Amino acid sequence: MASARDYYDIFQQYQQRRDRAERLLIERKDEIYRLIPEIAKIDDEIRQLGMSISKAMLNHEINSQQAVDELEHKLEELRDRKRRLLISAGYSEDYLSPQYICKDCQDTGYIGAQKCHCLRQALIDRAYAQSNLGHMLQAQTFDTFDITRYSDQPVDGEAMTPRENMEMIYAACLAFVEDFDRSPENLLFYGPTGLGKTFLSSCIARELLDRGKTVLYQTAFSIFEILREYKFSLNKSDYIPQQFDMLLDVDLLIIDDLGTELNNSFISSELFNVLNSRLLAGKKTIISTNLTLSQLNDAYSERIISRIIGHYTILKFYGDDIRKQLA
Ligand SMILES: [Zn+2]
Repeated sequence: MASARDYYDIFQQYQQRRDRAERLLIERKDEIYRLIPEIAKIDDEIRQLGMSISKAMLNHEINSQQAVDELEHKLEELRDRKRRLLISAGYSEDYLSPQYICKDCQDTGYIGAQKCHCLRQALIDRAYAQSNLGHMLQAQTFDTFDITRYSDQPVDGEAMTPRENMEMIYAACLAFVEDFDRSPENLLFYGPTGLGKTFLSSCIARELLDRGKTVLYQTAFSIFEILREYKFSLNKSDYIPQQFDMLLDVDLLIIDDLGTELNNSFISSELFNVLNSRLLAGKKTIISTNLTLSQLNDAYSERIISRIIGHYTILKFYGDDIRKQLA
């Protein structure tokens, strides 16, 4: 879910939009009143008529619906004359209406107590931007995933062809999205580059973002930079604590390329802390790595590996690099 900070930023934006609409309206009135003084007079009449209607209603001077209808009718006539004057001077008929970006909520973000579609979209856009996935989210969706790019020929030492294997992995990824709130399962993708690990992570991210979940994509290298800075740097900018909180708080953390960073015991234990805190909080993680399981075993502590084995669905990617086929 979006943080208080997100709401604050978005509402600042809405406030600016309303201010802008108001300023523009004042400018337009100035312009039109100078050019077509009759419209200024009509606006005056409309205002006075509106006031006398409410006054009369408050004082119970108007007793019949007929009298109200007559006044309303007069009001409508004035508005109509104003519209015609604007059009004949070459303006659009709503030139003197506030120019809201969203007419449905008049740039307030709400329709009654319900979030307007524009606010829901703004929250999703913001979550997209914060996910670090940016442009990848546009092209990489479950629909654009092309299974035929994986070979249907048997591979030595594997029970399934690469295509059958990918069908299984694809189904596991869809199930991960569908069961996101119910299952405690996490995912570990391992295997050589160019087989769609990042692509599928991005498909999952997009589906979840569209469902209002928060997602953060980071390479293992950047995560260790954040952890190192958070721990050791004395003059932290706002950015580092904020990123650190996100590592723990986002609904889905995607750690890409585990194993490329320089490994040491500090990194090992900090990584364990992040993975463990997320497990304890019921937050999901996807790890992808080019290392084999035995290389992972060699690179990280026993604690990390047993944590991963116990709580992650382990998916092995194999076959030929699908990117090379395009060349
Ligand atoms: Zn709206």
